[in-house]
Amino acid sequence: DTIASSTGEAFRVVRNPHAATDAERAEKLRDLAFGLQFTDHMARVTWTADEGWHDRRIEPYGPIPMDPAASVLHYAQEVFEGLKAYRWADGSIRLFRPHANAERLQRSAWRMALPELSVDDFMASIRALVELEHAWVPDAPETSLYLRPFLIGTDVFLGLRAPKRVDYLLIASPSGPYFPGGIKPVSIWVERDYHRAGPGGTGAAKCGGNYAASLRPQMAAYERGFDQVLYLDAATGSVLEELGGMNVFAVRADGTVLTPIINGNILEGVTRSSVIRLLEDQDLKVVERDITLAELRQGIEDGEITEVFACGTAAIVTPVGRMASTDFDVTVGDGQPGPVTAAVRERLTAIQYGRAEDPYGWMHRV
Ligand code: PMP
Repeated sequence: DTIASSTGEAFRVVRNPHAATDAERAEKLRDLAFGLQFTDHMARVTWTADEGWHDRRIEPYGPIPMDPAASVLHYAQEVFEGLKAYRWADGSIRLFRPHANAERLQRSAWRMALPELSVDDFMASIRALVELEHAWVPDAPETSLYLRPFLIGTDVFLGLRAPKRVDYLLIASPSGPYFPGGIKPVSIWVERDYHRAGPGGTGAAKCGGNYAASLRPQMAAYERGFDQVLYLDAATGSVLEELGGMNVFAVRADGTVLTPIINGNILEGVTRSSVIRLLEDQDLKVVERDITLAELRQGIEDGEITEVFACGTAAIVTPVGRMASTDFDVTVGDGQPGPVTAAVRERLTAIQYGRAEDPYGWMHRV
């Protein structure tokens, strides 16, 4: 049993004998949270220095036994991606800009000295898994099948080197909204003591270590009563970078929208570039440049900056209602979602869920 593909090589299918029944699946798809449920299968491709990428397969979802000396467990040789498959009203399943994720996975892999998976293999793995697991793509509002592709170094060697064995895996998680409760503003703590990335570091790569390092500041922010952390640049401590898992935008009263420029420290968000395009097509001027915290804070206080929002695959477009740090605490606008934020979120989700036409060719039918 194999799933052929129009792009990459075929994936061999090993069926899960314990796959959920229709009733069990229906139960799991009720009241979905984010990232807690998983489908019955996963895709996998193995790479070795001798054979390159080989053994493309779909196999039962489950534990992945590995040697305790596997390099991912010691030196965090791991990179990942996140994208969603959406159920349209006509029953079809669509992916949002999957090639952008394929290419970013390659850039992340390069930075971590991991072998690059071809765009064709990435696309073929997603098509093969989503085709097999189509019944797991939920159809309730704001739900999707969240796809998590990742690469891990599985070399058995405690010396530090680029791994000679690597596994690519793709798992799928039927998910509800990342922030439940619709378009509700979040509060942000601006982090002064810890940085996410430094010049020459790994900020632009989607590697697991970046996220491990963000958990301590994230916990501290939660304890203070804030939802998310905004990081500043490590070199000067004065320029905005991004949130732990989202890019950031500020809307000015004069109709200009600002967002930090791609500078090697922040992740090049797929949502970020889509939002820039949508804003420009609504005749707003988007400026990618350094934004200082002083400018942002002053702008919010004197009404020059009317909206701040964050964006990413998981949380889409999320308004920021409050920003604070050790020396300030400001409400953005009236603390409610602003019109530019609400409009761009509506426009993006309308395209993703097929409520509006897609003039950009962003949606790919599975
Ligand atoms: N920044 C970081 C650090 C992220 O983890 C993410 C999520 N991938 C983003 C930004 C947003 O990227 P995207 O829009 O591609 O999901």
